Amino acid sequence: MDPFHVQILHPGAQVRNLQIVELKTLHQRDHDRRTPIMYGFKVDCEITVAEYIREVKSTGAIRKGMGTKDKPLKEKYARDVEIQWWVASGCNIEIPSIELIYVDKKYKRPDPGFSSEDLFAGMEPKNFFKRKEIFREIRDSREDTQAEVGRYLRALSGEEPEVEPSKKLCSGAPGGLCDFWEQCTADKPDDWVDVLYYPRGKQITCLKNEGKNRLSDLAIEDGLGPEQGRMIRSVQADQDIIEETLGSDLRKIDPPAIHLDFEYLAGVALPIFAGTRPFEVVPFQFSAHRLNEDGSIDHIGEFLATGTEDPRQKFAEKLIALLDGTDEPIVAYNAKSAEKSVIEGLIKLYPELAVSLGRINARIEDVLIVFRDNVMLRQMITKESINGGGFFSLKNVAPAFVDGFTYDDLGVVSNGGAAMETFFQLITDEPPIIVEADGTKRHATKKELRDSLLAYCKKDTEATAEIHKKLLALTDIAPSHG
Ligand code: SF4
Repeated sequence: MDPFHVQILHPGAQVRNLQIVELKTLHQRDHDRRTPIMYGFKVDCEITVAEYIREVKSTGAIRKGMGTKDKPLKEKYARDVEIQWWVASGCNIEIPSIELIYVDKKYKRPDPGFSSEDLFAGMEPKNFFKRKEIFREIRDSREDTQAEVGRYLRALSGEEPEVEPSKKLCSGAPGGLCDFWEQCTADKPDDWVDVLYYPRGKQITCLKNEGKNRLSDLAIEDGLGPEQGRMIRSVQADQDIIEETLGSDLRKIDPPAIHLDFEYLAGVALPIFAGTRPFEVVPFQFSAHRLNEDGSIDHIGEFLATGTEDPRQKFAEKLIALLDGTDEPIVAYNAKSAEKSVIEGLIKLYPELAVSLGRINARIEDVLIVFRDNVMLRQMITKESINGGGFFSLKNVAPAFVDGFTYDDLGVVSNGGAAMETFFQLITDEPPIIVEADGTKRHATKKELRDSLLAYCKKDTEATAEIHKKLLALTDIAPSHG
């Protein structure tokens, strides 16, 4: 708790003697800085009860916890607030006002922006947050709340229910699936029906209701999509599926081809740099490899921002210097929602760079689509594929498809989320603790963090280049592997 947050609710209050009254700790993992704390605080003798997300800078924390702008009070927030009001009323605490506080996405951070000494330098709490009185909405649903609490109490006093794990039920914990996923799914086969790629609506529930619990139980008549159909064929034949269209789909990315990957801040409530807005995408790193006609792969360039200023213009300029003026196809993995969309954002931001950036964007092709439309590897169909970034994520595909390829040799950064977190640690001067082989602990150095970020992004472009090379090897247009 710091004066910035108190000012949200009590603009102008004297907060020198701020007294925090902890009412409830939702999870006792105090070291987890994303853990929400229910607490009250006293300012000028008035007690305010607030659900506070302690680590504002953590990814999406405020968005998850406090609502979204100008939308009707979402059911899940309403339910949460109703229960809190019900508890407080039961303790004879009179609640005269209930407000939802949410981030104004249009807020632009003024100078001087973020610094390691002052996370909130220049921020204006009353503009950064919006407030909405919701007491009437909450009060009108009091009877529903009473009934809901009754249901909770009956559930708590009864027998522990038999619960069947499923991807839907067990997702949502920080970092993905519930911590007990491995134990709860120990008896499930690798072709468990929950592994099915991109299930539509209640597809998995319907299949289970028909007694189809394994992919090997399914038939094409079960209304499967093309990737799902390939999964079933792969499991039933116990072999990889390679479609005949692979060769023609690869034509548009014939080598030599540049492989490109971006890392960027996204979904972060607190704007970091002056001029940025909440949740705005801020690219800070890229890497590029070239797959040559002879099958060799070269690392041809990279960029990693210093973090001392808004990195977007320099990012755009370095990208142009590396890629504009050449005509090889540019290949990225999941390009539409990542690289292409980041470049579109930069085009809007820097009109003077728009022509060059537009030329680069027009050359970008997505090797994920080529892979997804043509290949199903038997080895990818495992329970583990449910966890992580998804069935066709680079982390699932590259180690299964490319012999000897692994992400296990990376340091502190081994996925996109860790890259964001590490960039934060770098610019806020809050290095993580590293445990040495002999058990001693120390803070990571800035150089280690930068090296780790560089190694991770480079690994991703190496992965896509290797995937491209292997796809070519499966067709008659394969380059000679010289
Ligand atoms: S994995 Fe977690 S959420 Fe899922 S059934 Fe087991 S304990 Fe419950």
